[in-house]
Amino acid sequence: MDFQALLDGINADLRPQLGKEGRVACYIPALARVPISKFGMALRTCDGVEAACGDSAAPFSIQSVSKLFTLTLGMRLLGDALWERIHREPSGNPFNSLLQLESEQGVPRNPFINAGAIAVADRLVSTLGANAKPGLLEMLSSLAGEAIFFDDEVAASEAETGFRNLALANLMKSFGKIDNPVATVVDFYFHQCALRMSCRQLACAAGYLCRDGAHPQEGGNEVVSERQARRLNALMLTCGTYDAAGEFAYRIGLPCKSGVGGGIVAVVPDTLTLCVWSPAVDASGNSVLGTRALELFASRSGLSIF
Ligand code: GLU
Repeated sequence: MDFQALLDGINADLRPQLGKEGRVACYIPALARVPISKFGMALRTCDGVEAACGDSAAPFSIQSVSKLFTLTLGMRLLGDALWERIHREPSGNPFNSLLQLESEQGVPRNPFINAGAIAVADRLVSTLGANAKPGLLEMLSSLAGEAIFFDDEVAASEAETGFRNLALANLMKSFGKIDNPVATVVDFYFHQCALRMSCRQLACAAGYLCRDGAHPQEGGNEVVSERQARRLNALMLTCGTYDAAGEFAYRIGLPCKSGVGGGIVAVVPDTLTLCVWSPAVDASGNSVLGTRALELFASRSGLSIF
């Protein structure tokens, strides 16, 4: 398949719609400044073939896409013990909701809502201590094949306005489900959300998800086991796109993880990983043009897990 022509066609068809629908997430002040008229897409196949279009090399705030990588690190370090305090069901609620957490005694529905990612962050801080932030950067840099950094301005902006995330962490702490000081755990969480990566780097870094867990750069090495890679894909499909996972499965049919920065990572198992970015998001938090681009990609390529 000519992937470059496929991406060029999607880019040409969607560019005229840039900035017409959706809004840049503005509840984090540093994100509100991102120009709305950006669109990029990149993919990398299991054989290392790459294709990209538009703003595919521009770094952006990956936000909740980071939850995929912290979950990966958690599964790697803790195996099944990670699931002692996190469920694996779609929440049916907004990603930052406190309601369910109260009625379910501080155990988050899944690792991709904020409460679940904060619970994963707590386990990473327990396991890695002061090395948690450098350890995450090291894993991502190795996966992407390039140095990856936090955007300290975005992390600070999140810390100034992250009242709900603090509330979620405190609520879990009140149920005895967070071991470390809340301030330390949310500091790690705010930094993971503030990772800056481009579509190209993300398409490359997520490569283990289409390779049964094998490292995208160092073929012989395992990032996660084949069984864990399958499970990460299952969680992406059922819980990876906020409260629109059913719609994503219906329209696109690929495991995806999105973030309010407008990025979405998608996996075609055994074939390729793909990342699309366009900052205007819809009411559920998914990139409007990113969603449309993935839909065009799936229908034009015929690639879907169904
Ligand atoms: N940093 C954002 C928050 O915690 C992440 C939201 C997202 O991308 O879903 O609210």
